[in-house]
Amino acid sequence: MLIENGFGQGKDVGLDSDVINPIMTCLHCAACDTQCPAGIRIADAIHSFKAIILEAMLK
Ligand code: SF4
Repeated sequence: MLIENGFGQGKDVGLDSDVINPIMTCLHCAACDTQCPAGIRIADAIHSFKAIILEAMLK
């Protein structure tokens, strides 16, 4: 959630390869959704992160 909040508010959360690579290689299989004890839909969040990363790359 900290990453999501940082992205959503335009804060610098350090978009380096350690952050970008795992997000951009996500296959959206949604397997992690069943593991989150808080019920966060991780696959949906990753989809949003990808859009934000791509938007940042186009600036
Ligand atoms: S949806 Fe979750 S488990 Fe599936 S590839 Fe992406 S991060 Fe990994």
